[in-house]
Amino acid sequence: MNFDPDLLDKLRNSRHLAVFTGAGVSAESGIPTFRDALAGLWAKYRPEDLATPEAFLRDPAMVWQWYASRRAAIAAIHPNPGHHAIARLGQLLRRLTVITQNVDGLHQAAGSGRVLELHGNIHRNTCFACGREATPEEAAQDATPPLCQGCGGMLRPGVVWFGEALPAEAWRQSVEAVEDADLFFCVGTSSLVEPAASLPRLARSLGCAVVQINPDATAHDAVADFILRGKSGEVLPRLLDAAFPAA
Ligand SMILES: [Zn+2]
Repeated sequence: MNFDPDLLDKLRNSRHLAVFTGAGVSAESGIPTFRDALAGLWAKYRPEDLATPEAFLRDPAMVWQWYASRRAAIAAIHPNPGHHAIARLGQLLRRLTVITQNVDGLHQAAGSGRVLELHGNIHRNTCFACGREATPEEAAQDATPPLCQGCGGMLRPGVVWFGEALPAEAWRQSVEAVEDADLFFCVGTSSLVEPAASLPRLARSLGCAVVQINPDATAHDAVADFILRGKSGEVLPRLLDAAFPAA
């Protein structure tokens, strides 16, 4: 794979790289997308039956069990070479911020330090009533769902459901990171759900070079300065080796 020398220069000299990742990066580790995971016992459900505040209020035990099954599936999965390449770039560059739409924690597992989670994290839990984050002990109580020890409310998975706003602080920091970045990687995401989908556009409008990495064409290609076709687990390690041959 040959890379544009201009891209290699930009990467080597980057002061702040923002890496925006989506479902494709997790899928390469073997994590099924939400829709693909609706198989077997869960095949009769639609995402909106399981991943909305309304669904949780209607049948909290069922929604809790669904997430328990997702967590069990994710627990057996490891970061892939794409996650590891991003973590290595974090050590080579002055500053790197990962902005992810994935909830599996695989960027942190690969060693990435600064990870902003726009859709929360499936390994955490919060109280549906008071919003505080639950301790692992609270979440391990033998109840479906377990209850908040602060207010008695029901615990819920710490992910963003359909129809919910993005976590305000993670979003604020993401916009700030994009405003500060001089290079922006858009990796494994074709999602056009706003406001997250506006980040590549924002980067481009601020004069930041945008690199699109995806096996297929996506709407984000329109704002890309460089388009690299392929899986992130193949493209990113090669890009890193080309830019930092001695690393
Ligand atoms: Zn509570």
